[in-house]
Amino acid sequence: MLKINEIYYSIQGESSKAGLPCVFVRLTYCNLRCTYCDTEYAFYDGKDYSIEEVLKEVKKYDCKLVEITGGEPLVQSECLTLLKKLCDDSFEVLLETGGSLPVKEIDRRVKIIMDLKCPSSGMMKKNLYENINFLKSTDEIKFVIGTREDYEWAKEIMNRYKLDEKCEILFSVVFGALEPLILVNWILEDKLKVRFQLQMHKFIWDPAAKGV
Ligand code: SF4
Repeated sequence: MLKINEIYYSIQGESSKAGLPCVFVRLTYCNLRCTYCDTEYAFYDGKDYSIEEVLKEVKKYDCKLVEITGGEPLVQSECLTLLKKLCDDSFEVLLETGGSLPVKEIDRRVKIIMDLKCPSSGMMKKNLYENINFLKSTDEIKFVIGTREDYEWAKEIMNRYKLDEKCEILFSVVFGALEPLILVNWILEDKLKVRFQLQMHKFIWDPAAKGV
């Protein structure tokens, strides 16, 4: 069984798939406590679903793009089976993970979108850097940046692990903490090979809204 917080249909707000209709499956629990977390409601609340029940629910939306998110989906080991079954059923599958739990066993057909937690998150020490070795060129690494210190740290990590040769790099702002224009200017000044992104759903709906 999996503890599921919510399943809903919306527009993908982030990543290289931003703007596309997508079914979201939000798993309960998270092993981290980021300072800027906007999904604290997923830490404990949820309902038990069998994998078959999740698949049945997802199929109702007639949409081939599915994101498994949280909380931290990898806290529940059965998440790996869910990812595999969705791939077997010909879904295009995205997994959002905070980057503190191993990604090695994830089905290779899944697009992993993995955070590396910056200093202002308060969770930087939880980053599992060996995960970088198991990412594919089709995966994405995300830095959520709230301060200049975060930005400098992200650049240093990109250089140290040659991340821009590995896969796509996403730079986001911590919503409400750093002006998007400031981050964009830093990226352009430094000619960084990264994709700037906004959390599109926070501009379409109320930033605090659930299920969007
Ligand atoms: S990893 Fe995500 S869900 Fe968990 S505390 Fe951080 S922002 Fe919240």
